[in-house]
Amino acid sequence: MKIAKNTVVTVHYKLSDAQDTLIEDGQEPMVYLHGGYENTLPKIEEALEGKVAGFDTTIQVEPEDAFGEYDADLVKVEERKNLPTPLEVGMQFEGTPEGDGDGDALIFTVTDIADDKVVLDGNHPLAGMALRFTLNVADVREATDEEIAHGHVHGAHGHHDDEDDEDDAGNEYRSHPIH
Ligand SMILES: [Zn+2]
Repeated sequence: MKIAKNTVVTVHYKLSDAQDTLIEDGQEPMVYLHGGYENTLPKIEEALEGKVAGFDTTIQVEPEDAFGEYDADLVKVEERKNLPTPLEVGMQFEGTPEGDGDGDALIFTVTDIADDKVVLDGNHPLAGMALRFTLNVADVREATDEEIAHGHVHGAHGHHDDEDDEDDAGNEYRSHPIH
């Protein structure tokens, strides 16, 4: 069966940067609903459209097609006392960009801690990076009516809501149903 709108695709993947440094070795395959449901990056869907199980390819996705260019304006310095204890580099907090009261909340990552100041970076951890995906299609099936109505995959590998993998950099390219 060919990958087309409203098929469920199981694909093994590896993610590296443009220098081939491994970022994530997909331990479990990504399973997503194909057809513009924003379950994965559009460039991945484009590369797999019309393909069948067994197809493999490597694609490079530029920052503008992945997690955006790095935006220095999203880096802010907070007073240490405004943040919880214990505090470690790598911890993440939800917040709004400086001077932008109406802005959407962003996830800020602690990138540096000094005695009384903390640097928070609102860029996605993979922002500004060209990403290289090695993809290997393992399975293609028709989506159920319910999956199509919900816009995501159900069943084996489809529900990730009870897995604590939110710390994975770049998890937005995988299907993460919320129920
Ligand atoms: Zn659902």
